[in-house]
Amino acid sequence: RNGRNRVSHYSDAQGAEQDVLAKQLIMLSELQHGFERGEFFLVYQPIMDAHGEALAAVEALIRWRKSDGTIVPPDQFIPVAEQSRLIVHLGRWVVQQVCHDLPRLHAAGMHGLKVHINMAAPEFLDSDLPAELMATVRAAGIDPSSLQIELTENMVMSHIDTSLPIMRKLTQLGFEISLDDFGMGYSSLSLLKTLPIASLKIDRGFLQGVPRERDDCAIVRTMLDLGRNMGIGVIAEGVETDSQLGYLRQFGCTLVQGYLLGRPMPLPQLLERYRKA
Ligand code: C2E
Ligand code: MG
Ligand code: MG
Ligand code: MG
Repeated sequence: RNGRNRVSHYSDAQGAEQDVLAKQLIMLSELQHGFERGEFFLVYQPIMDAHGEALAAVEALIRWRKSDGTIVPPDQFIPVAEQSRLIVHLGRWVVQQVCHDLPRLHAAGMHGLKVHINMAAPEFLDSDLPAELMATVRAAGIDPSSLQIELTENMVMSHIDTSLPIMRKLTQLGFEISLDDFGMGYSSLSLLKTLPIASLKIDRGFLQGVPRERDDCAIVRTMLDLGRNMGIGVIAEGVETDSQLGYLRQFGCTLVQGYLLGRPMPLPQLLERYRKA
């Protein structure tokens, strides 16, 4: 990695670093084979109104079922996939799978239901993305406004020169954008104002201290105010308890997501649970 034609001295610490690299390379090749063998699948987590009654949208979340049957969560493999073009192929597969599933949700009476899709930097920061997305939704007969693309605040802000034009193009085409893991990045408020976003998602780290810890509560209330004043939706992630839900409702949060409301589930289970006659 340091380049050719040089002498390097290795210490134990570097050895450990090489171990990590070797493990990642092995995983990358497993991921590639897994992708060819169709080992990935999507689960959907409900996003509900603050009363926990009406299904407002769902978030698509990817899973990897390895050949030995173990299920690997995305935090463990997305960062590895991001080291290669694989992430772009995985991302396209997610969009295609969502476009395949969404008409079934609409046909089951969940008319106008939106699906949120997460995108990593290498997928999103590709100027071909808007045209490709448009072609995919058209072929599936889906309205672009049915898809809300979730981008982490960190990713948007650290690539703002590239991300902003793509965000603008996507919203012109009718797609919606959501700022994920909000509060974990470093948005300047003036920059935030210029982003074409439909919603922001309060990172679940902040929900953990609600309603006990004063600071977390203050941050959550401030984010709710911010969204309201900017005229965009605010979704609270990671709602696990009734007291968190009560607090959010009290301070005007309209959309919630978390284990209390529903865990991520495969499509058949989602259809069964929310089908409207
Ligand atoms: P995220 O987009 O912030 O998704 C929310 C994560 O929180 C999900 O983890 C979800 O299962 C989990 N979660 C939801 N409610 C609760 C709760 O009440 N308590 C707790 N403790 N956790 C909750 P998951 O599915 O493991 O995904 C982790 C991250 O991986 C996602 O964070 C997202 O950044 C990424 N990811 C997932 N699917 C995709 C995908 O298709 N493409 C890309 N590029 N990234 C994805
Ligand atoms: Mg997300
Ligand atoms: Mg999040
Ligand atoms: Mg996250």
